[in-house]
Amino acid sequence: MVRRGISRKNLVAIVLGVILGGAPTLAFDHWVHQLAERDNAAQAAMAAQRAIELADGRVSQVITALDDLVKDGVTSCTPDHVETMRKAAFAVTPIKGVGLLRPDGTLACQQPTAKPIDRTVLSNEPLPGAPGYSIDVIQFGDNPHMVRLSRKIDDTISIAAVMPGDMFVPMLGAVGPFGAHARMTTANGAVLGESGAITLDSKPSRTMSVARRFSQKYGFQVISTQPIINSNYSDLAGISLFVKIAVAVLLIVFALLMPRRSRNNPVAELERALDAGEFVPFYQPIVDIRSGQLRGAEVLMRWRKGDDSLVLPASFIPLAESTGLILPMTRALMRQVVAEMGAAIGCRPGLKVSFNFAAQLFRDESIVKEVRNAFANSPVDLSQVVLELTERDPIENLTETRRVIAALQGIGVRIAIDDVGTGHSGLSYMLKLGVDIIKIDKMFVDSIGTDRNSTTIVETLVDLAHNMRMDIVAEGVESFDQVVHLRDLGIRSAQGYVFSPPLPGGAFLKLVEAIDPLPAAAMEGRVAGAARRYMSARSRFNAA
Ligand code: C2E
Ligand code: CA
Ligand code: CA
Repeated sequence: MVRRGISRKNLVAIVLGVILGGAPTLAFDHWVHQLAERDNAAQAAMAAQRAIELADGRVSQVITALDDLVKDGVTSCTPDHVETMRKAAFAVTPIKGVGLLRPDGTLACQQPTAKPIDRTVLSNEPLPGAPGYSIDVIQFGDNPHMVRLSRKIDDTISIAAVMPGDMFVPMLGAVGPFGAHARMTTANGAVLGESGAITLDSKPSRTMSVARRFSQKYGFQVISTQPIINSNYSDLAGISLFVKIAVAVLLIVFALLMPRRSRNNPVAELERALDAGEFVPFYQPIVDIRSGQLRGAEVLMRWRKGDDSLVLPASFIPLAESTGLILPMTRALMRQVVAEMGAAIGCRPGLKVSFNFAAQLFRDESIVKEVRNAFANSPVDLSQVVLELTERDPIENLTETRRVIAALQGIGVRIAIDDVGTGHSGLSYMLKLGVDIIKIDKMFVDSIGTDRNSTTIVETLVDLAHNMRMDIVAEGVESFDQVVHLRDLGIRSAQGYVFSPPLPGGAFLKLVEAIDPLPAAAMEGRVAGAARRYMSARSRFNAA
């Protein structure tokens, strides 16, 4: 049976490949995101911290300058006081202007001088950490707002300095403006400075990092948010892309190499050979050594490779058995025998065809259906089928095996035990299986007549078989002396090179037709080589 398309194994391999390939890239993406998240949170925190430090530093500078002016007695608008104020405004960077304020908030004098302009006080509150100081946010006309620090000198006069509002605008990190935002407020929440798009959201989301920093000195507060996906990660995004491409390339290379690898993988090679129909049956005749008649054949598997070379079963049957491939291989073999030999066997009811069945095939009763299906709608009657149980591995469950054997016998099939005397279990154990035929191994056949013990064992087997109404087949018979000995011991059937080696289907078919011609299919005197050998062997041993 040829299986095509995506097998379950391939499907599992594909799913595994996707998981194995996908998992690292997902993990990598996750890692990149986490890295970006951590980095962004750090950037947001840094931007906030830096803004606070700058504001604290500038406000301290201004307070020191104002305190110094008060210490120097600058409390009126006399020309020398105004000159001192001018120098201070010039010397202290954050100060845009210095002046003296009346209690109603109007300016008594200021340095540098400026045209009077509309002003709106947006907020006014005491400055924590600086006793006597207020901090106000003031709008002069349409100009950007200013931050004013003022210190009361006495009930009639205060000294004040204005700073540009942009000194309180937090700088955003290297992140760029997209979605990033930061805002500095006073302790009471008045806005001192703000930068970036106004998407302030203090709740951290998956795409934003939020940082909050407070000034220990003056109660300022900065909230800064940074979007996580940004150009800073273009490197990592590049690496991520690289990893994905690398994994994809690896998967493709692996997929391309797979077929080549499978050529070095013996199991895959067996599967391929099975699909390609490279396992073929050979037939070794089994002969009645009393009459010289053909009793049937044992089917022996051969692996016919693409180059027509033949591989013997010893090189591949053990692997087929250990991987479970032996079942589909045996199934395919039965079908081929039916296809090429079904007619010849079917019309000669005396012929039997034997198959080697690994012990594992007797493990459950589904094999009964397999065998029935293989010969259903074929000329071969199930009573012509023999299954040889080879006990290469110890039989695990004797009771179950016994049951399956009985079920097979129930559909008319006969069971043989192969290689008797060489397996793992004792003879009596094997006989508990209730088989129909025992096959005496070549090892015993070889020593008959020369080794007293072997002869005794074979004699015992023959007695046993007769008592239990079992047939005996001797295997590996290579000489006429052996044939004579076996016949003298009461053995009826034999196979071996003395009669014929295993033959390919075509040759065996010719042999069958030559020695047992059907009236319609008589071979008109044409006798194949194998048949000739078989005939001469038969006449020689008949003469013996
Ligand atoms: P086996 O069932 O004991 O088969 C007999 C082996 O002895 C065959 O070897 C056959 O070619 C060889 N033989 C036959 N006559 C003579 C002889 O006169 N002298 C010598 N020296 N050898 C002889 P082969 O074909 O190499 O098969 C080896 C084994 O592989 C078989 O031993 C059988 O156990 C296993 N086998 C073959 N076909 C199948 C199969 O379809 N399924 C399973 N499960 N096993 C198989
Ligand atoms: Ca056999
Ligand atoms: Ca054998």
